[in-house]
Amino acid sequence: MKKFLVFVLISVLVVLTFSGVIDEIKKRGYIIMGTEATFPPFEFVDKQTKQVVGFDVDIAKMIAKKLGVRLVIKDIAFDGLIPALMMNKIDMIVAAMTITPERAKMVSFSDPYFTAGQVIVVRKSDSFRPKSYEDLKGHRVGVQQGTTADIDVSKVKGVDIVRYTRFTDAFLDLAIGRTDAVVLDAAPAQAYVKFNPKLTISSPVLSEEKYGIAVRKEDKDLLDFINEVLKEMNSKTCYDFLVSLWF
Ligand code: GLN
Repeated sequence: MKKFLVFVLISVLVVLTFSGVIDEIKKRGYIIMGTEATFPPFEFVDKQTKQVVGFDVDIAKMIAKKLGVRLVIKDIAFDGLIPALMMNKIDMIVAAMTITPERAKMVSFSDPYFTAGQVIVVRKSDSFRPKSYEDLKGHRVGVQQGTTADIDVSKVKGVDIVRYTRFTDAFLDLAIGRTDAVVLDAAPAQAYVKFNPKLTISSPVLSEEKYGIAVRKEDKDLLDFINEVLKEMNSKTCYDFLVSLWF
């Protein structure tokens, strides 16, 4: 009897240790995506529906659909995304997040799903036309806290950096002259410039970055699943369709 109990106990422990996060997600009926929704066309709040929509959201919806669960979106500060993932508040980060070696120490990234790079946005009415990070010296520059723009611009000495949680605030300050430039990824920069004709992109693309979906290191089952979905989307030109839809 005692032996049997020990056997049962060990079996339960084995199941608990080895059943992956996918089982848990399926049991609860939804997967939680963490993102920061001031980053069009990847993730932004639709003015009419008040829902978070965009390219990344459509990819996440596809992942949810293939898992047979609902997608729940948590909109949090960009620099809070990795901590939220590690504290089990979300299941994956889909936030136009660049794959970097430092981040990859904490989380696992999917295969790259988008190539991007940083650009500098300024006011059209100004004569200031920075072409490189060096040109930002002696100026007040807005970035989103914890992004690759923040990391890159922080390396240049003599730049007065203003760190924002939301890009909407960074662009408001740029438009009214509180800062001289904002550095961010090219596609969202184009989206903001299109929306605000007083702004313009002054630099070429200054970096080459690849976006990945991040999951906890131990959630290998979810990582493999996400990579399968990305592969399938590519082969079915579903990805191209999303690009044509959002860009
Ligand atoms: N791609 C940039 C980064 O990973 C910015 C992402 C974002 O602001 N959502 O740091």
